[in-house]
Amino acid sequence: MKQIALVAHDNKKDDLLRWAKSNEKRLCTCKLYATGTTGKLLEKEIPTTVHKLQSGPLGGDQQLGALIAEQKIDMLIFFWDPLEPLPHDPDIKALLRIAVVWNIPVACNLSSADLLIASSDFFNGYERVVPDFQEYVNRKV
Ligand code: PGA
Repeated sequence: MKQIALVAHDNKKDDLLRWAKSNEKRLCTCKLYATGTTGKLLEKEIPTTVHKLQSGPLGGDQQLGALIAEQKIDMLIFFWDPLEPLPHDPDIKALLRIAVVWNIPVACNLSSADLLIASSDFFNGYERVVPDFQEYVNRKV
């Protein structure tokens, strides 16, 4: 079962909820994780359980980052707000960074999310390359 993380900033929540509704069939076959408020709203919108973390500003983005580092997330749908500064901007940057470090497919807007969720490759056996950082770690000791 694919594990998908979803986050939407306040100005983007309606977009994410609409997107989730129109993709509920596929989303309901996945294990879903979300930051607190996003998760609560998603559970009202689509008939599935969402594993809810803390709200983003209270550490939810960092919790998602930790799950990515533990190889527990296969895809990140992150509708972040490009027009407003937020108190947890450093956490947002960290989440995007760790998703790149671990080669997680990430969608930050509607069109990318449409393409990822429609990917038959992803849902039919695609195995992403999990980077091997052994050499990097060895270099440091
Ligand atoms: P929220 O957090 O889902 O609790 O609103 C999202 C965020 O602001 O990062």
